[in-house]
Amino acid sequence: MANDCIFCRIVAGEAPGEKVYETDAVYAFRDTNPQAPTHILIVPKKHIPRVSEVEAEDAALMGELLLAARAVAEKEGVSGGFRLVVNNGSRAGQTVYHVHLHLLAGRAFRWPPG
Ligand code: 5GP
Ligand code: ZN
Repeated sequence: MANDCIFCRIVAGEAPGEKVYETDAVYAFRDTNPQAPTHILIVPKKHIPRVSEVEAEDAALMGELLLAARAVAEKEGVSGGFRLVVNNGSRAGQTVYHVHLHLLAGRAFRWPPG
């Protein structure tokens, strides 16, 4: 755990977060500034700052993130249509440096993304 990381603190129960789903390795909670009717963040419990720092040893954990996305979508009743977003680095809009999937659903999405 990184003490200065807000997502590590949410996972540890030291900062408020509306939990949606949890496994041994993964935690999901609602985004406080939702960009769609359903906006959930899915994070590994392990602190990894961004995708460009993911290592081969994290391969199974990254797979678990996608399985968690499937489970969260089913739980939220949005399996028929959702978008997953991962921002990597400031130029892509990353603001919290703890790897996370954004699961967005409940409205139409345009392509290409902004
Ligand atoms: P990023 O811009 O790094 O891809 O996404 C970070 C996301 O985390 C943003 O959508 C932002 O609203 C959300 N966020 C930032 N701080 C908190 C917090 O303390 N609690 C929750 N639940 N979400 C947060
Ligand atoms: Zn962290």
